[in-house]
Amino acid sequence: MKEKLGFIGLGNMGLPMSINLLRAGYEVYGFDTNTQAMEQFIAQGGIALTTAKAVAQCSEVIMTSLPTPQVVEQVYSSPEGILQNAKQGSLLIDFSTVNPELNDTFFQKAKSLGLRYLGAPVSGGVIGAVNATLTIMIGGEERDFQSGASIFKIIGKNIYHLGASPSVGTRIKLLNNLMIGFYTQAVAETIVLGEKMGIAADTLYEVLSNSYGQSRIYERNYLEYMKNENYEPGFSTNLLLKDLRLAQNMAAEAGVPLRIGEQLVNLYNEISVEGYGEHDMSAAYLSLKEKCTVKQF
Ligand code: NAD
Repeated sequence: MKEKLGFIGLGNMGLPMSINLLRAGYEVYGFDTNTQAMEQFIAQGGIALTTAKAVAQCSEVIMTSLPTPQVVEQVYSSPEGILQNAKQGSLLIDFSTVNPELNDTFFQKAKSLGLRYLGAPVSGGVIGAVNATLTIMIGGEERDFQSGASIFKIIGKNIYHLGASPSVGTRIKLLNNLMIGFYTQAVAETIVLGEKMGIAADTLYEVLSNSYGQSRIYERNYLEYMKNENYEPGFSTNLLLKDLRLAQNMAAEAGVPLRIGEQLVNLYNEISVEGYGEHDMSAAYLSLKEKCTVKQF
C-alpha cells in the first residue's frame, strides 16, 4: 500500500507537484494559507486540511514547498508545526530554497525526534513542476533518499542524490540561482539595447539562439514572458532576490567576493522596490526599458 503523503505550500511549484502525486494514485493531504490554492488542490482530488499540524499528523511523508526560510522555519518549528506533530519515523522532504544552515538544523532536530529529513530544492520552473521534469538536488542519508525515490521519480526527471550532508543540494541550487540572476539581467540589457538600436527582439532571439549568447534563461524569459507581455510569476523577482541574498551569505562564509553577485542583490532589490517584486523575474526587462526611450519599429 502507498504511503499517505502530506504537502504544505501549494503555490506555483507545490500545486503542480502535488497534482502529479495525486495523478500517480497517492492520497495527498494538503495545506496552504491561501484559500484559492486550497480550492485548486481540492478540485484535483487533494484532501485539504486546515493546518500544517493536521497534515503532519496524517501523513507518512511530509513535503514542503514554501516561499522563504522564515516561513519554512515557522512551519517546521512552531509548536503547531511539522517537527512537533509528525508521526515517529515520518520522512520530511523540503523542496523550498532556504539557507543551507536551515537544512542542517532541521536534519539534526528531525533525527533527535525520531524523524527523517531530506533537503531537496528543485529547479526547472513551473513548467518543470507541471510536466514533472524538475531537477531535484537532494542531500541526506542514503536510506532516506531511497525511501523517497518513488516520489522523486513522479515529480522530477533529473534526480541527484548529492551526499549525506542535508544542505549540499541547497548549496548547488543557490549557485544555480546566482547564474539565473546574471542571465536574467543580461537578457534584459541585451534586448533593450538591441531595441534601442532598431533590432527587433524576435530577430535578436533567432540569431542569438544559434550563437553562444543563448541560454536556457534567455529562452524562458523571452519566449514565455517578454514575448507574450505576460509577467505573472513564474518565479517572482522577490524569490530570486531572496536566493541571491542567500548566495551572498554563502559566499561571505566561504570568503569569496562576488564581484557581480553583490551588485545583483542591489539591482533586484531596486527592481522589487520599483513595484516588480511580485512580477516574474523577467520583468527586469520592463524595469530597464522604463529608464530609456526605446525606438519603436
Ligand atoms: P509561491 O509563493 O508561488 O508558493 C508558496 C506557497 O506557500 C503559497 O501558495 C503560499 O500561500 C504558501 N504559504 C505561505 N506561508 C504558508 C504557511 N505558513 N503555511 C502554508 N502555506 C504557506 O512560491 P513558489 O514559486 O511555488 O516557490 C516555492 C519554493 O520553491 C520557494 O522556496 C522558491 O524559491 C522555490 N522554487 C521556485 C521556483 C519557481 O520557478 N517558482 C523554481 C524552483 C524553486
